[in-house]
Amino acid sequence: MAPKVVWHHLVWFPGRIPKHNIILWMTILDRLPTWVRLLRMGIIMENVKCLFCDMVPETRSHSFFECDYAKNIWKAILLLCGVNRRVSHWDGELAWATHCFKGKSLIARVFKLALTSYLYVIWRERNTGCLEEWLDR
Ligand SMILES: [Zn+2]
Repeated sequence: MAPKVVWHHLVWFPGRIPKHNIILWMTILDRLPTWVRLLRMGIIMENVKCLFCDMVPETRSHSFFECDYAKNIWKAILLLCGVNRRVSHWDGELAWATHCFKGKSLIARVFKLALTSYLYVIWRERNTGCLEEWLDR
């Protein structure tokens, strides 16, 4: 049996939302089809810039934690959870979440749900552009 990866508890936990967690899992494995990843796969595109800011090539790290559009949403979610910290890049946020969201406590679950839901909604917004509509519900 293969050893568990350090982020196992972020993806597999009681109360998880499967469609949210699959996005986290794919993001951790860097399998989401970002523009830069598609370009690396040999797919030719005219524009690989982020759909939110149209300034920087779209990568996993940029889309979720470096782009001001997404980063401000993540900061707001963290503040709602009582956390005031500087948002890092993908590797930094994953390392922080892996370290801090351990255990089976309610707050650990809330943080994991916040992270997985955040990633899901940002990826969906990237693909459909309907975040405003979702937030109004
Ligand atoms: Zn951007």
